[in-house]
Amino acid sequence: MTIINWRCVPRLTGTRFVQKIGDQALIGVIDRGSVVWRGSAGLLCRNRSMGILMQIAKNTVVTLTFELLDAQGNMIEKAESPIAYIHGGFHGIFPLVEKALNGKQAGDSCQVRLAPNDAFGEYDAKLVQVETRDKFPPDVTVGMQFEGRGEQSGHAVVYTVTDVAEDKVVVDGNHPLAGQTLNFSCTVTEVRVATGEEMEHGHVHGAHGHHH
Ligand SMILES: [Zn+2]
Repeated sequence: MTIINWRCVPRLTGTRFVQKIGDQALIGVIDRGSVVWRGSAGLLCRNRSMGILMQIAKNTVVTLTFELLDAQGNMIEKAESPIAYIHGGFHGIFPLVEKALNGKQAGDSCQVRLAPNDAFGEYDAKLVQVETRDKFPPDVTVGMQFEGRGEQSGHAVVYTVTDVAEDKVVVDGNHPLAGQTLNFSCTVTEVRVATGEEMEHGHVHGAHGHHH
């Protein structure tokens, strides 16, 4: 945990931070260019220039908003709501993004360029296969996806139908974004310590995580 000089970022209005200090949970919300901090005893202060923010480290739960862009800067995916992952090798996010986020805190942003091998892999022409049509439902159309087992790898692979002919169907087992260089852009909205149960399960519980 570190104490920093808090720089207000107006475009983050509404961003919510949660910071645990001892038993007390402090909630900070950016409002009209200042941070309003509330604790269990009620309103703590407003316009506070010093914020106490937890840094991203192993076994912290990181909540962030993100955008995924292609190499030309075209939007591929924009997160509708924040996502959360456990930091420190739980495979919740691209490893290079984890590396870039290490030590950052709520309010920080980062941009990471992901080569195909750092994202969804190189395009593998061997994963394109021509199958007989009788293996598929009668209404098979381009774009449908099926789970299959790779003949060489033996792993379950999701295949996308790319062409349908009279008696043949072409399927592609590459991820739709395979072979692409991507730009991952994100803003951290919350950092907290992961619970023991979350670390055991390897995923985040509660808001933006699993509910079970
Ligand atoms: Zn769980």
